[in-house]
Amino acid sequence: MKVCIACGTRFDGSGWQCPLCHFSPKSVGGCLSFINEIPDRGEFYRPEYFKQLYALEASSFWFRSRNSLINWALRRFFPEARSFFEIGCGTGFVLSGIESKFHNLSLYGSEIHEAGLFYASRRLRNAQLFQMDGRLIPFEDEFDVMGAFDVLEHVREDERVLMQICQAVVPGGGMILTVPQHPFLWSRLDDLACHVRRYCAGDLRARVRHAGFEIVRMTSFVSIIFPLMLLSRLFKNRPGRNFDPVAELKLGHPLDLVLEKALDLERALINCGISFPAGGSLLLIARKPGSGRKTYIEDTF
Ligand SMILES: [Zn+2]
Repeated sequence: MKVCIACGTRFDGSGWQCPLCHFSPKSVGGCLSFINEIPDRGEFYRPEYFKQLYALEASSFWFRSRNSLINWALRRFFPEARSFFEIGCGTGFVLSGIESKFHNLSLYGSEIHEAGLFYASRRLRNAQLFQMDGRLIPFEDEFDVMGAFDVLEHVREDERVLMQICQAVVPGGGMILTVPQHPFLWSRLDDLACHVRRYCAGDLRARVRHAGFEIVRMTSFVSIIFPLMLLSRLFKNRPGRNFDPVAELKLGHPLDLVLEKALDLERALINCGISFPAGGSLLLIARKPGSGRKTYIEDTF
């Protein structure tokens, strides 16, 4: 079901014109746009970073491993899902990973920054993209699974985003989240990335429940190389050093492959039911209560 962002009316059908107030979203770069105003420069993210990201993602173990983990979660917990919507899809790297492995899934993505949509639409063949603010999602009971991957930490009103996701997911459907973990890991990287917080596990769990979800599974990841990450962050926080914000993502090919293999092992352990207590990031899988179409299987661990 669609939700008019101007008056809140719920409506069905193929068109987007609101039957009550006649509001219609405009088209921006070939995508329907549901935002009321362009975000300020540096709000949520810096648009100039998308070009760098687009060039970097496929060659970085961190982005490839996160894609593998997201695909694992989707296959493991939502094998019957028919639709997937990603909030804050950036350059479309996550959706492109899903597109290559899940051929029967209808894919949707949104991004508030037009610069991200430009790259995402180049990268994706079968996804429908929207310009949208995660705090105002124009859908209700619509998608089997929704995801937000390293997005919530950019938004002050993260609880509002979670509530909007819960509204847009079908009853019985679910959500997959990743966020950066441990406030004590805060570094200049977080400032540059326009983060407003890093999460504690308990804090994220409470916010997700408050939004209306049941938590199915939660674990840290980037855990078995966590000591390396700690050292790297300590080193980076020393004043007076030349600072390259993407140096951690531009490793030499052999080291990049070794780290990807380490995270492959970590994913195999997560698949066996091991949940890591500490790590660079958190993965959370949640379910919206209700008995809609079955999209979700119980965790057996
Ligand atoms: Zn309306």
